[in-house]
Order: sequence, then C-alpha cells, then structure tokens
Amino acid sequence: MRENQLPTAELQALDAAHHMHPFTDGAALNRKGARIITRAKGVWLTDSEGEEILDGMAGLWCVNVGYGREELAEVAAAQMRDLAFYNTFFQTSHPPAIKLAKRLADLAPGPLNHVFFNGSGSDSNDTNLRMVRHYWAALGKPEKSVVISRWNGYHGSTMGGGSLGGMKGIHAQGGLPIPGITHIDQPDWWSEGGDMAPEEFGLARARLLERKILEIGADKVAAFIAEPVQGAGGVIIPPATYWPEIQRICREYGILLIVDEVITGFGRTGNWFGSETFGIQPDIMTCAKGLTSGYIPMGASLVSDQIAEVINNADEFAHGYTYSGHPVAAAVALENLRLLDEEGIIDRARAEIAPYLKAQWEALADHPMVGEAKIVGLMGSIALTPDKAARAKFAAKEGTVGYICRERCFANNLIMRHVGDRMIISPPLVISKDEVDILIARARKSLDEGHAKAKAEGLMA
Ligand code: PMP
Repeated sequence: MRENQLPTAELQALDAAHHMHPFTDGAALNRKGARIITRAKGVWLTDSEGEEILDGMAGLWCVNVGYGREELAEVAAAQMRDLAFYNTFFQTSHPPAIKLAKRLADLAPGPLNHVFFNGSGSDSNDTNLRMVRHYWAALGKPEKSVVISRWNGYHGSTMGGGSLGGMKGIHAQGGLPIPGITHIDQPDWWSEGGDMAPEEFGLARARLLERKILEIGADKVAAFIAEPVQGAGGVIIPPATYWPEIQRICREYGILLIVDEVITGFGRTGNWFGSETFGIQPDIMTCAKGLTSGYIPMGASLVSDQIAEVINNADEFAHGYTYSGHPVAAAVALENLRLLDEEGIIDRARAEIAPYLKAQWEALADHPMVGEAKIVGLMGSIALTPDKAARAKFAAKEGTVGYICRERCFANNLIMRHVGDRMIISPPLVISKDEVDILIARARKSLDEGHAKAKAEGLMA
C-alpha cells in the first residue's frame, strides 16, 4: 500500500498554495484546509488521518463498481503497454475504441447504434450541441438550431455544457449562455408545484416545452436536452407524467431529444440507462462517469442510426478531441462494463439494494426537518424544510441549512452532498445492506445535529 508521504497540514498548505479547486470558494477552503483523501476500497474512502469515510456520492456520481478494482488497473496497464495512445482522427482506429463502440451500441436502447467518443460529460454535450446543428444544416435546415433545455438542469461547465445547463450561478460568469439556447422550468414539484397534484404538475411542466416550441417555431428548434433525473440540480425525480409527454412533444414537432445520462447511465437508476427506467427513447444520449466508473476520464455521445446516417454523409463534421476514444480509457470502460454485467452489479442494485435503501431513505421523511424523501434506484434526495405541510423554505439564504447538514455528515464520516437545502446521495452500486444501514444511521445522526444547530441559530422553530 502506498502511504501518504507528507503530514496532513503540509499537504493542506501545498494544496492551498498551488491547487485551484473546481466549484470551490478558494479563499474559504484555503483558510480551512482540504480534507485529503489518500485511498479507497469498495464504498470506503480513507483520509490522510486514517479516518474511514462512507462515500455516499460514489465520488462525483461515478464510481459505480466501487473503488479498488484490480481488474481495471490491470487492463489499463496492459493497454498502456500495447498501445498507450493513438488518435481516431485521420482514417485510423484501434481495437479498444471499436470494441467499446460495439458494446455500447448493444447496450443502448433502440437505434442508438453509433458512438462519438469524448473526454468528459461537458465536452460530450458540446459535441451534441454541434452535432444536432450540423445534422439539421446537412438536411438543408440551418435555421433549425435552437436548443431548449431546463432551468436547474446540469450539462457541464464548458461554454456549451454550461449554457445548456440552467444553473444561474454558472450563467453569471463568463458570458453564458451562448446564443441559441433557451430554458424552460424544471419538473420540481416539491419546490414549484404549488397546489397542483404531482401528476398534473408533471404534465404542465412538460407542456412548457410545447409552448416554447410554438413560440420559437418548430422550424427553428433543433433539440431538447434533459437529464432523466436532474442530478446536480438536487436529484429531482420528475412526476410519472412528465417524460411520456416530453417524448410525445418531441416526436410531434420533429425535435431531437438529447437525454443526458452522465449520472443516470450504467446502473444508477436500477437499469443500464435512466431512459429505460423512465421509458424514453433518445435520439442522442450523453454518457460519461459510470462508463468507466470514474477510473479514467471518458465521455461518449450515443447517436441514433438516423442522425449518424446524415452526419456520415454530410460535409466532414469538423469536431473532435485528441482523446476521443482514448485506447486506455476505452479498455477500462470495456472492463468496467464487463464487471457491471457479469457480476450482476446492476441487477443486484435494482433487485436487492434499491428496495432496501428506499425503505430506509423514505423513512427519513419522519425527521422533523425533512420534507419529501425520494429515491430512484441508487440516487436519492431529501428536502429540508422548517415546515413540512407548507413545503416552506428557510428564512436564511438558500443552502445555509443544507451546508450545516453537509458539514455534520462530513464530521460523521459520511459523504452526503447538499444542493441548496436538499441532501443527496448516490452511493457506489456495490454498497451492501450493512453499509446502507451505516449510511442511514450516519445520515440520521447528522440530520439531528444539523437540526439542533439550525434551531440554535434561530433558523427554525
Ligand atoms: N451532465 C450531467 C448530467 C452531469 O451530471 C455532469 C457532471 N456532474 C456533466 C454533464 C458534466 O460532466 P463532466 O463533469 O464530466 O464534464
């Protein structure tokens, strides 16, 4: 085992001096010092002080097979020895990319039989944005270029991905969104459903897409993009009426449907893809994260026969990344998919772990500070509230109480993230029932402590 060579304080000082962290208030972190993670196995992280932390987020929703799988290290090493790198730009290909494209085509629902490889989720969505516009232009409809997405959706933080996403904090920096992208409201019943029943609200929110298409003109709209379940937006599971209506609208108006499965892909919702769980047939599917279980970066756009046919016969698609289809990443992805499949990890997650976790997760709704507690497969969220019946928000700035609870989780050696005043989980799919018990016990303890602190600070009665 390779041990950490430097004392924690020294690592933290060097981190503060030289390392700029993503999505982080740098000054605040530097004052406090980052928690340094040194090793991981299964669902357990170990920090530089030797503390064992249950990772309720699978890293960043990605380590689906759990940490420390020797098989993935072995295939990466073997592939580096055979062919560490070659590109796929100039009329060349290589076995790992070919095999992975075929494997993904077999796994993906319906006619998604073609794969454009990328390096991450963000740049996969940049690919998708350019591809749908190129597709319509190739069909003689260059003005069919607007992409509709949703407020509080997340599609990455590149210029394209950040613009497709509907995070106001991201839009506020760097001149986003770029032109030709417009947003509609999200299907978050808890926060925005008012007096409507969830099913009625789901339909109403889906019909905002229809209204937007009619407003812009279907001849100007290229595509709609959405996550089956908004992940970074707070694990917003839409009412059952939402997706069938979205699908109907896209078909009726000839709008391409891009389903962003960066989080929901590869078992997260209990099936290989969230599209299966929610009965969606995408024209393009965005993949990353669970594709390699996060062991190495890789993204992919899975593309329908119809779109691939047009793109392949149009002017050269002037797009690609040095690492599109990287052989080492592709080899790791293939091995990861083999583990998910042959070890029955997804089947077990769906049949055994998801129901077990769901019962305990939903029971958190009896906690005095918890409003709704929802979960699909192994991704769940709870809404914190000072008044359940009114589905009220805290008087303090949004996220204040969520942050308090997240800090308590961190102190109790549980990684549970907060999004505003929601707490979310997305553990590795290999989590055991005993580990679920630990997760829930630590979550409850942290909620109790958070509740006490919120009361002490006058944030709730
Ligand atoms: N799409 C979705 C749905 C995501 O959740 C994420 C990352 N959380 C991305 C895209 C961006 O992926 P990446 O961070 O790999 O660029």
